[in-house]
Amino acid sequence: MNIVRRQSRKIFVGNVPVGGDAPISVQSMTNTDTLDVEATVNQINQLKKAGADLVRVSIPTMDAAEAFKSIKEQVNIPLITDIHFDYRIALKVAEYGADCLRINPGNIGSIARIEAVIKTARERNIPIRIGVNSGSLEKDIQEKYGEPTPEALVESAMRHVDILDKVGFEDFKVSVKSSDVFTAIDAYRLLAKKIDQPLHLGITEAGGLMLGSIKSAIGMGILLHEGIGDTLRVSLAADPVAEVKAGFDILKALKKRQHGINFIACPTCSRKEYDVISVVNQLENRLGDVLTPLDVSIIGCVVNGPGEALHSDLGIAGARKASGFYINGVRQNTKVPNENIVDFLEQAIRTKVKILEDAKLQEIDVTTSY
Ligand code: SF4
Repeated sequence: MNIVRRQSRKIFVGNVPVGGDAPISVQSMTNTDTLDVEATVNQINQLKKAGADLVRVSIPTMDAAEAFKSIKEQVNIPLITDIHFDYRIALKVAEYGADCLRINPGNIGSIARIEAVIKTARERNIPIRIGVNSGSLEKDIQEKYGEPTPEALVESAMRHVDILDKVGFEDFKVSVKSSDVFTAIDAYRLLAKKIDQPLHLGITEAGGLMLGSIKSAIGMGILLHEGIGDTLRVSLAADPVAEVKAGFDILKALKKRQHGINFIACPTCSRKEYDVISVVNQLENRLGDVLTPLDVSIIGCVVNGPGEALHSDLGIAGARKASGFYINGVRQNTKVPNENIVDFLEQAIRTKVKILEDAKLQEIDVTTSY
């Protein structure tokens, strides 16, 4: 079933388009102390290496805003600054090159302060992200609804949207995150009908690596399948690099965006002819730097090996002592000794990636020479 993506206005966070027909972007957030410039820069670079399109950095104080200046000078990826309440911090990080301000206009205070932030954002082409979270709803909305229902989240979001509407500012995106999967789904569905700005998806405070990824995959998966969502963050109580990986894995599974290697691997059973699980783990670790999309099937025996290899760029079908190797579904004469599968596949994958990247470069050359 091919559901059409919701039509949203395209905005730019730095040079990354969000919304419209832009690829669904994956973002994460640093969890270092922003005052520790070196640690924060290192983490941003790790996130970039993992393929993150955007990185958010928390700016809790004016000192953090000063640290942000130095951080921004040392990295090469759009940065979203996370600010609560203090409009002066927003003005400062805008001056220092923030690519997006995550700030809720209704929490800034007087209209003069809101106008000061919007004026700066407008002058510098900086979009805003309105971020509503089930854990921090306004007191009166909490009292009205009793709990953070989808309607409560959307009412809170629309308060901030209305403020931006009044000052004629349209370059924003919105999130309505809940730690409850179904509340988040319903909130995003409601919001999607009310505004045409891009939506930032997230299941907030989703939990640790495993449960958080599963909740996020269910919540965002349902929404993305319905065509809702333009950028996402998987919020995990884990290394932020894992958030990027999980985000891309969700998009890969939904066939919304290909990124890096898609390993197709069997769970193994007593028929397995080599240690599939160890091979997959080792290759995932070794090949985290590969961002070119590639389907690689790693299957323990001939029951499913040749069949999966048929639909893969590269494939291994386990056999006694030496396994069958496939390129684009075609069995090769080479048999791979089972103890060499990891090294052999790493080499084969890197070679294939190079061929694909060279072909892409040539394609670009041909296109631009006209
Ligand atoms: Fe077992 Fe073979 Fe199926 Fe893998 S493909 S789970 S080894 S029967």
